[in-house]
Amino acid sequence: MKTKTLVIVFFMLAGLFMTTAANAKLRVFACEPEWAALATELGGKHIKAFSATHGKQDPHYIQARPSLIAKLRNADLLICTGADLEIGWLPVLLRKAGNARIQPGQPGYFMATAFVPLLDKPQQLDRSAGDIHAAGNPHIQTDPRRLATVAKVLNQRLQQLDPKNAADYQQSYTEFAEKWQQAIDKWTARAQPLKGKNIITHHKSWVYLEDWLGLHEIATLEPKPGIPPTASHLGQLLSVAKQQPVLAIIYAAYQNPKSARWLSEKTGIPAVELPFTVGGNKQATDLFSLYDTTIDALLKAQVINPQKDAQP
Ligand SMILES: [Zn+2]
Repeated sequence: MKTKTLVIVFFMLAGLFMTTAANAKLRVFACEPEWAALATELGGKHIKAFSATHGKQDPHYIQARPSLIAKLRNADLLICTGADLEIGWLPVLLRKAGNARIQPGQPGYFMATAFVPLLDKPQQLDRSAGDIHAAGNPHIQTDPRRLATVAKVLNQRLQQLDPKNAADYQQSYTEFAEKWQQAIDKWTARAQPLKGKNIITHHKSWVYLEDWLGLHEIATLEPKPGIPPTASHLGQLLSVAKQQPVLAIIYAAYQNPKSARWLSEKTGIPAVELPFTVGGNKQATDLFSLYDTTIDALLKAQVINPQKDAQP
């Protein structure tokens, strides 16, 4: 009798365990909101995504807080931008979390920039001068074509990590990829009036957006990537901006708008805040609305500041 009870209890526990395992979600720790959003598009009900940063935070610099270490300790998959964007905080988190599944080289370690061609690879690097993008420009999420490539690889990775739900991941990916391509075609068509226009940006955050839409970045408010704007540099920009037509001065939602507004007041060129990532403004609630609202803001600048095409 006693044995029988034990056997029953054993099977009940085993059943409970198996149910839990079957329903267990893949825990995704994303460094930035765009990767949590992409994982959610592709993983749906099978994943639980968490983003270490939000749209109003500078992803170059965040605190390696204990709550983040705890989250990373339990993660099955780490998705970050890579290319040194998180170099100031991710290595500390990885070390303190002590989670073997998400260390470099493991299937649970996914750096998006590893799968797309990068721009701005420096010929010569001077870190002492504050240059923070040694591996090339990491801000790939401003180009939806590159995001499409990342989605393709991430789909494979999700299937590898969670093979029992592979068919669901594949279906989500196929649907997403089709919808995403249609959206890219729509955005590209809408953005045609922006082609060839000059812009000034706060940080080199938009080189992939420029590459996609054919915008010309003629200057940045930062004298070097990662070095805050200085009075003398802004003074130089004033004369640069007066010499040629400029559509807009662009800054990301998390950046201090002071320098962009100063130059805007002096030149009459609109200062335009772009969301940069999901959650960067109220409208950018997912990846699709992120690009919708980015194109909207640039076209609005084009309407209030109509430009002749930049000289070829
Ligand atoms: Zn940067």
